[in-house]
Amino acid sequence: MVRRVDLPFKCDYARSAGLEARTFKGSAFKGGANGGQIGPRGATENAEVTAGGLPEKVTKKKFPLLVWSAATRRRTPKSIIAGVAASEAIDQAPASHLNDPTVKIQTAEIRHIALPLITPWRTAYGEDAAIHSVLVRLTSDGIEGWGESCPLYAPTYSPESALSAYETCREFFLPRIVGREFATAADLAACLAVFKGNPFAKAAAETAWWALHSKRQGLPLWRMLGGAQSTTRCGQDFGVQNTIDDLLALIGKAVDEGFPRIKLKVKRGWDIEVLEAVRGAFPAAVVHVDCNAGYDLHDDWATLKAFDRFNLAMIEQPLSDTDLIDHAELQSRITTPVCLDESIKSPRDFRLALKLKACRVVNVKPGRVGGLFNAIQIHDLARDAGMPAWVGGMLESGVGAAICAALGTLPGFTYPADIFPSRRFYARDITDREIQLNARHCVELGDGVGVGFEPIPERLEAVTVAKASFPAP
Ligand code: MG
Repeated sequence: MVRRVDLPFKCDYARSAGLEARTFKGSAFKGGANGGQIGPRGATENAEVTAGGLPEKVTKKKFPLLVWSAATRRRTPKSIIAGVAASEAIDQAPASHLNDPTVKIQTAEIRHIALPLITPWRTAYGEDAAIHSVLVRLTSDGIEGWGESCPLYAPTYSPESALSAYETCREFFLPRIVGREFATAADLAACLAVFKGNPFAKAAAETAWWALHSKRQGLPLWRMLGGAQSTTRCGQDFGVQNTIDDLLALIGKAVDEGFPRIKLKVKRGWDIEVLEAVRGAFPAAVVHVDCNAGYDLHDDWATLKAFDRFNLAMIEQPLSDTDLIDHAELQSRITTPVCLDESIKSPRDFRLALKLKACRVVNVKPGRVGGLFNAIQIHDLARDAGMPAWVGGMLESGVGAAICAALGTLPGFTYPADIFPSRRFYARDITDREIQLNARHCVELGDGVGVGFEPIPERLEAVTVAKASFPAP
């Protein structure tokens, strides 16, 4: 399926999304649905459009999004500034785009893929036999960058699914950004800000922009993000197993191999008895549980309180994703740190969680929070609050896993990440390099430019469920 979408209200969206003045130059800001007047989201009706593209009457106070870019640069997290500064330091590179941070998106491609798992992944949400993920390819000056966002097949982990993320990104986001220029991730975020929610769909495009941008700058993505080193240390994770003995055997192998921490999926009926057996067999192992929002503060209080008996590193997302207040109440009544995952969909959510004291640890996934720009902001907020943070995974392909690993190189991510070797889940990953862990259980990203893990076209095509291109061929 290949389709191009022309939005009839493109002009209004441009203005309300707060693009920079330069993106309004020329015909892009003339005409449109209401003849170039400020639309309903603007503060000033019937303002004139100047030759430079900005309405004369617009002020920062009346229309703050129109000056988003300059203001955002002043507020941009230090790690992003560091990444940009590093890119600007490369002055010996021959290509002119190395000195130009502005990326004009010339073409885009989006794919919904279904990549079979070797064995199903079982959690409180159910069972997945294949990962359903969304990949986006953006190009500029003959350079391409691939991004990925993996919300799973059904809307169980979050309100989004692979189907909705694909359709939303294809129908709204990619037509919105193709042909436009973005100098920073903040500019791209501002362009898409008019669209509510849908962080996974936004992350598909946003991570592709970072991949493209870092390639154009001649830098590894991890360095572009402000990473401290080229490796990310990972822990070991186990879903719900058929028997406790099966689980103990798996944990024993992981402990023998020296994994820095063990994460166990738990759910009602697979929790306290399991932990008693695990702690009996492995009293000193660093263990935490992930509840995937499977408990209720009042109905499951006895179980939640009992988790305190097991010296867990944390309890991940015990309650509903929408219930920060109950998480705050729970955290005040138990000694084990609460870690939020599903509840944090944006930096704003995390600021609220900090205010409410709803957690003592935060899990950051670029897909869940709308992309790497937001993920870095959450990292910086956690660092400033003295709160441990770590990078989670969503069973992405090698592309998305490498993007998560690049994020995990930031210095504030102190707890081992959830990134899995390709061969643990996939008979054949789609990338030219497999995700592997070294002897220290680290993903080694190296010094190659961009993400460093590129899709192999034939493999990608073999697992593609749907695809679209912009502009249409
Ligand atoms: Mg989780």
